[in-house]
Amino acid sequence: MLPTELRLNSHANGQPVKTTASEIALDRASRLLSQSVMPEQEPQGYYAASIAPEPPRPALNGRRTCDICVVGGGYTGLSAALHAAESGARVVLLEAQRVGFGASGRNGGQIHTGLRKEQSELEAWLGAAHARDLWSLSEEAKALLRALVSRHEIACELRTGLITAAHDARAARALEKETEHLQRSYGYRAMRMLDAAETTRQTGSRLYRGARFDEGGGHLHPLLYARGLARASEAAGAAIFEESQVGAIENVQGPVQLRCASGSVAADRVILATDAYTGAIAPELDRFIGHVESFVTATAPLPPSLANEILPGDAAVADTRHVLDYYRKSADGRLLFAGREAYFGMPADIAALVRPRMLRVFPQLRDVATEYAWSGTVGITVTRMPHFGKLSERVLFTHGYSGQGVALATLGGRLLAEAATGHNERFDVFARVPSRPFPGGSWLRRPLIAAALLAYKVADAL
Ligand SMILES: Cc1cc2nc3c(=O)[nH]c(=O)nc-3n(C[C@H](O)[C@H](O)[C@H](O)COP(=O)(O)OP(=O)(O)OC[C@H]3O[C@@H](n4cnc5c(N)ncnc54)[C@H](O)[C@@H]3O)c2cc1C
Repeated sequence: MLPTELRLNSHANGQPVKTTASEIALDRASRLLSQSVMPEQEPQGYYAASIAPEPPRPALNGRRTCDICVVGGGYTGLSAALHAAESGARVVLLEAQRVGFGASGRNGGQIHTGLRKEQSELEAWLGAAHARDLWSLSEEAKALLRALVSRHEIACELRTGLITAAHDARAARALEKETEHLQRSYGYRAMRMLDAAETTRQTGSRLYRGARFDEGGGHLHPLLYARGLARASEAAGAAIFEESQVGAIENVQGPVQLRCASGSVAADRVILATDAYTGAIAPELDRFIGHVESFVTATAPLPPSLANEILPGDAAVADTRHVLDYYRKSADGRLLFAGREAYFGMPADIAALVRPRMLRVFPQLRDVATEYAWSGTVGITVTRMPHFGKLSERVLFTHGYSGQGVALATLGGRLLAEAATGHNERFDVFARVPSRPFPGGSWLRRPLIAAALLAYKVADAL
């Protein structure tokens, strides 16, 4: 199933020989791309199972030329393709697997306000003016998502409301403080605090000390959204090829050449929209992207009494812990519950890993079966801010939304398309955020991130 350039290499004892750093990185990416799921389930678990299958698009064949070649068919790449095609550019998008195969087809579907770093932290770090520009763009991200869903009639089960549930009293106070700050300094009035009793009513769980309700947040069916963006891009004139993994990018200063197993593209500009897999195609970016595996499960449809008790207002929930739980109900009344990062390798049984966490929040689900379980790789950065930049004037990239990319990656694609067509101002608002490499080089990075997550988990427990 995995197309990989490695198959083109020489073999020893029937095994591919990986010689260069980029070949080794590509091999690692191929392993990242083949995610763990319940036996017999598709990589996107419930999401793929709950919607009609889509006929595959053709793989790239032969030589093509275009103005902009987008690598990666998740929200970033699809939004970039859509916006670039709408501006009149000739666009080709190459996806290694199928549209929505990566994080965009597997995520929790939650639409967040702001960035992973709070505005008060951004102000202290980057200054008030830069923080304000980032806030405006993060607000635009949610508005853009909703406008695209509406304009392109993307039926993706879009819902309103996101609850941030405080796991202890200190977290509740911090939420309240930041909420007041957003109201006072940014005029953001869509958030209100809930006391413990109201939190229990809104979530159906007795676990929390309080919460914040955000009318500006929400949730959606991630794979339906990705497929809708793909159809909109094609309607705007973009050509999308699936099963077309780019193995090499050559001549980054001139008309750029991208090679796949069965064809090549010559492009004036290239947009790398490969998120967690970016290090494979651009080894110079490898040290800026970390990988965290996150696990999602879907229960059987809830019986009516539980469906009324759990999330009666149909909001999504994320808690305030570092190693957080996040959940919501699906349109067909299941609880989609996610959480728990993997520390040392992929678990053999994802459902068994997540279920105890779900029962801690909702003991009343004891007799409701878990029917789907899958995982996805979250691309994270040291700063938890998405990393925007250019490998050359012709090759642009964005990755590392750090678990908050449903809305932001949609915007990221638009900003990449703007920059690829000569309008850098808004792209630069993100590109000016200082990026930092992970310590430890490519081999030590995973164990170091795992150790950091374990430390966070201990902090959460304390
Ligand atoms: C389990 C999970 C839960 C999450 N939950 C949430 C959430 O609730 N809310 C939220 O806001 N964010 C969430 N996120 C993060 C969010 O999903 C991502 O930030 C976002 O989807 C990133 O989109 P993208 O297009 O940049 O990357 P991706 O969707 O990963 O797309 C990258 C694509 O590039 C392709 N590719 C890679 N290498 C090549 C190559 N060499 N050639 C061609 N194609 C290639 C891959 O196949 C993939 O389809 C979650 C992520 C995960 C994994």
